[in-house]
Parts: sequence; structure tokens; C-alpha cells
Amino acid sequence: MDKIKILANDGIDDSGKKILEEAGFVVITDTKSALELPSFINQQNIQVLLVRSATKVRKELIDECASLKIIGRGGVGMDNIDVAYAKEKGIEVINTPAASSQSVAELVFAHLFSCVRFLHQSNVAMHHVENCHFNELKKSYSKGIELRGKTLGIIGFGRIGQSLASYALGCGMKVLAYDPFVEKGVIKIAIEEQTPIEITIKTKSFDEVLTTSDFISLHVPMPNNGQPIIGEPEIKKMKKGIILINASRGGIVDEIALLNAIHSNHIYAAALDVFNNEPEPSLHILSNKNISLSPHIGASTIEAQERIGAELAEKIIAFFSK
Ligand code: NAD
Repeated sequence: MDKIKILANDGIDDSGKKILEEAGFVVITDTKSALELPSFINQQNIQVLLVRSATKVRKELIDECASLKIIGRGGVGMDNIDVAYAKEKGIEVINTPAASSQSVAELVFAHLFSCVRFLHQSNVAMHHVENCHFNELKKSYSKGIELRGKTLGIIGFGRIGQSLASYALGCGMKVLAYDPFVEKGVIKIAIEEQTPIEITIKTKSFDEVLTTSDFISLHVPMPNNGQPIIGEPEIKKMKKGIILINASRGGIVDEIALLNAIHSNHIYAAALDVFNNEPEPSLHILSNKNISLSPHIGASTIEAQERIGAELAEKIIAFFSK
């Protein structure tokens, strides 16, 4: 019998590829353009199409490729796949929602540590070696603050929000969480091989999180109405001097309101991993030195890619073993 062929059009981690090959699948990791994809899938009789965020799997492609049995997304968001249509056509759609929660949580903490000690600014300033006024910089960046004892507000207490809470608790922070659909989270703190300590955090009202947090991090999906969750009215309720972090989706924070609030010093600093109009974020955002920036890399760690590859492989093997 012919081997089942998988096209990982946006790549797959070597460990996942190896698991699949050892289970008897053929894994092709060439990247085909949107134009080339349908004919390649048909010629090669591809049964599994794996994508990340780059490849779009729309209705037209699904209609053209009768051989497809599984569409797999390495990661969480399925905005690039017509999921309902694929399911209607009897195609299994899989993703790996939990594989990158820890990676996003760690990136949020990298930004948070950076903001409270001005690392995003001092790195840029000190790289100007010709013009590096060491003592002036030392003075400018000498009023950092500590995280321990401060309150982290988490908006959206799902997988990433709860993972973030474990890092915050580990740093000795207080955690306040808001999520209209989650009553509480049981946060596990694992210390080496010991049995994890479990800490239950009950969610609070939106207003309580907005008004009493020292730092706020957003971990929500894009609302169906496409409107920001944090705009001017919400920022007004926050403590003066807040640090705001968005590593969820561009558009969840109103960027104009954010810039205005930084300008008026209501927001002390912000950190963004996601932006309106990616991959061309606003120049006002990119040039603001009070914003710590990263180019949508929350899920992009080597460990997350390994977990994604392994989880996709397990799900594909399970599907064809039925
Ligand atoms: P999740 O579904 O596990 O959690 C999201 C939570 O938000 C849910 O518990 C839901 O009840 C809650 N929620 C929905 N609407 C809300 C609202 N208006 N206010 C407060 N809470 C609300 O999802 P997750 O895996 O934790 O991912 C969270 C976000 O992070 C998603 O937008 C996802 O796309 C994004 N993400 C970003 C990256 C990155 O690279 N930066 C990587 C992975 C995920």
C-alpha cells in the first residue's frame, strides 16, 4: 500500500517529522505558493496538509483538493483556515492550542522585566557606542522598580493567562484575573521533581482588575465585533503609571488610545508582541521608546515548536489508526 503523504507547507519541527516518518508517513516540507498548492496536493495525493499562520486554507483550496483528510495548524489561531467549511466536507481539522502557552507567558515576563528596568531603552542607547554617555545613562535608568509584591492583572484567564499566573506567583507577585467565562484557575507551581503546589485564583470583575493592577497583560481572543477591549475609557480607570502588555492579538488594544496615554504619562510603559496591520505596524508605535517591542514571536520557541510537532504527529497517527 502507498504511504500516506503529509505536506508541512510552513515546516514542521524535526522531532515531529521523525515521529511521523517512523510511523510510516512521508513528510514533505517544501513550501508551495498559494498558486502551486492545489496542483501539488493533487499530483502527490497529499492527505494531510500542515500549516502555521502563513499558508491560507480557504474554501477554494478545500474544494480543489479532494484527497485531503486532515488540515493541521501548528499553533492556536485558525483564522487562516476555513474550519467550518473543511469540517462540512468531512475533513478533520486539528491544532495544538496548549503547546505554546508557556512560551507566550515567558515572553510577557521578558517584556515586563525589560520595562521595569528600562532594558528596552538602555540596549538601544548603549548600542550607540560612539555616543554612549555612560554616566548619563546610568542616571536615567537608575529608578527601576521590582516586580515582587506588585499586582499583575491578567485579562483572559485561559491557557496563556493561567500559565502567566504561575510565573507571576513564582516571582512573588499578586495576581488578579478577569475572565467572563472562567470562575477560577488552579495554578500549579512545580519545583523540580516535587509534587506541584496548587494555588486557586478566583477571577474578579473587569473593573477591579483595571483599577487595582500595577501591570496588566492581555490574553483574550479577538472579540467578534472586532472592537478593542482596551480603549480610552478602560485606560482611564487604570492606575497612573501602569505598564500594559499585549501579546494576544493586534487590535485588542486601541493603539491611538495607548499612544495618547503614554504621551500623558498615564501609561508608564507598554509592551507589544502583536500589532494592528501586521506585518507593517504603525510608525508611531514602532518609534515610541516607551514601548518594548517584539515581532509576534510569543509562540516561537524551540521547545514550543518541538511540542507542536510532537502533538500534531500524535494526532495524525491516532486519526489513521482508527
Ligand atoms: P484561551 O482560549 O485558552 O484563553 C482565552 C481566554 O479569554 C478564555 O478563557 C476566554 O474565556 C477569555 N475571554 C474571552 N473574551 C474575553 C474578554 N472579553 N475579557 C476577558 N477574557 C475573555 O486562549 P489562549 O491560548 O490563552 O490564547 C490567548 C490569546 O493569545 C489568543 O488571542 C491567541 O490568539 C493569542 N496568542 C498569541 C500568541 C503570540 O505569538 N503572541 C501565541 C499564541 C496565542
